[in-house]
Amino acid sequence: MQEHTEKAMKSHNPEVRVGVFVCHCGSNIAGYLDCPALTEYAATLPGVVYVKNNLYTCSEAGIAEIKSAIQERGLTRVVVASCSPRTHMPLFKSACAEAGLNPYLFEMANIRDQCSWVHMQEKEMAQEKAMDLIRMAVAKATFLEPQQDIEASVVRNALVIGGGVAGLSAAIAMADMGINVVLVEREAELGGLLRRVNRIAPRGDSAAERIQELVKEAAGRANLRILLRSEVTAVSGVIGNYEVTVREAEGTERQELVGCIVVATGAVPFRPEGLFGYNGETVITQIELEEKFRAGTLNARSVVMIQCVGARSPERAYCSRICCLTAVKNALAIKETIPDAHVHILYRDIQMYGMENEKLLWDARGKGVRFDVYDVDRPPVVRHGVVEVYQPLLGEVEEVPCDLVVLSTPLVAPEGATALANLMRIATDQNNFFMEAHAKLRPLDFATDGIFLCGTARYPATVAEAQAQGLGAASRVGTVLFKEKLVTSALVSQVTERCDGCGYCIELCPYGALSLEEYEKDGVMRRRARSDKILCKGCGLCAATCPKGGVVVLGFTRKQLEAQVDAALEAV
Ligand code: SF4
Ligand code: SF4
Repeated sequence: MQEHTEKAMKSHNPEVRVGVFVCHCGSNIAGYLDCPALTEYAATLPGVVYVKNNLYTCSEAGIAEIKSAIQERGLTRVVVASCSPRTHMPLFKSACAEAGLNPYLFEMANIRDQCSWVHMQEKEMAQEKAMDLIRMAVAKATFLEPQQDIEASVVRNALVIGGGVAGLSAAIAMADMGINVVLVEREAELGGLLRRVNRIAPRGDSAAERIQELVKEAAGRANLRILLRSEVTAVSGVIGNYEVTVREAEGTERQELVGCIVVATGAVPFRPEGLFGYNGETVITQIELEEKFRAGTLNARSVVMIQCVGARSPERAYCSRICCLTAVKNALAIKETIPDAHVHILYRDIQMYGMENEKLLWDARGKGVRFDVYDVDRPPVVRHGVVEVYQPLLGEVEEVPCDLVVLSTPLVAPEGATALANLMRIATDQNNFFMEAHAKLRPLDFATDGIFLCGTARYPATVAEAQAQGLGAASRVGTVLFKEKLVTSALVSQVTERCDGCGYCIELCPYGALSLEEYEKDGVMRRRARSDKILCKGCGLCAATCPKGGVVVLGFTRKQLEAQVDAALEAV
């Protein structure tokens, strides 16, 4: 240790003056670690000129202490040993910036989430680990370099893909915010799946009227252009400046320059070919029943509905969420149209989330709609004019006479979803629904910046949910397009002199941030990697892959990481 410390001291740059702040986080850290001892330990590390322990470093008093130490003690590096950088790094960085220190000269040691919380039962070892973490952070901080945030321009235009409820809602809301919007719909009409629906649950509003309202609203916005029978065929660029190629009905292609994209491509009902005798006439789907309502051609007196057809199965393991609601809504609609009709719903579990929907279920029971659980291992059998259902409680097969069988099938991703996902390098899940960046923290964002998601393109949703998500996506777009310029972190990849253009890294980048470019040196044409600073997320895959150090990620350079590793290996 002595030897290493001496080595570190010898190589130590006298301009590096590190301040270390050790946080108690109330009892979250101090309940398990000896914070005063950690602070004393930090004072012994090379380059450290100031140490302090705080009850809460993130409190107003804690932040003020960081700022005054920078100004009064001439700190040129700040290390906070506390909680997670995910939540608190921005706060501490801005404290540095406010005190006049470049925020990239800040480093954090996570002694809470990664130490006191996970090693509550091993206090002694936790103390040693906290010392390791602080020593590593200080070692890295020594080699940090000032950086400048990256700035980029923003085009205040947005493109919406899909003209269903979610897409229309997003487009109208963005137009109202003053954003120029272009909506691309591949069908000849707007409205999406709602065009085939009769009434909207749970209140029974007319679906046709809802679409008309939305279409009328969209048509009334001068800054909202609608391109029907059109498709997106290429997308390039980055947040703030996407170039989108749209192929129109006549086959002509046009370019749209937009700052953000909203994906609202919707979903389609699964067609249960080969299941439960589906034939589109006496055995139909819920959406086909809706079409009968709309056309006024329903004349069945005895209807059996079967739930979860093609859902919660090995092929499609998910619950489509809205089919139970749809079945109950349509059962009530049948009773309303033909009061003495008999409606029998065979289900596995009933999924009627929400107070209003639950009430609908009780209304249906009150009106005589019969509900029976079926055994998934002995599903109902549809025969001519009768459905045989095994009653597990009685241990008998009951024959339910019927003149119409209605199958409740899940919503599935439409054809072309994967191709679109590939065009934009956005993620889909195992069922080809588009996948958000984080189900709870970023439900309407894609991991790719500037591209947002709403409606059933993400997962089956009710009309109200799709509309709400459309508004939510519009508001997410607003957070980007109303900035004068985009400011992103400087901690991204940088191609170095060592790059010889072998191209190993290009395909590996999950964000498409790397490409190869040609340049001339000493009269010879050469190749090297080129990194797009806005597209790059600083994941480090390229730097870890390149065998020659041809690309590095700022803030995680080889020198910085080596200092951390050396410090980690040093015995306490
Ligand atoms: Fe090859 Fe490395 Fe250059 Fe990428 S950065 S092209 S892997 S030398
Ligand atoms: Fe791509 Fe990650 Fe390298 Fe950035 S750091 S260029 S995102 S591989």
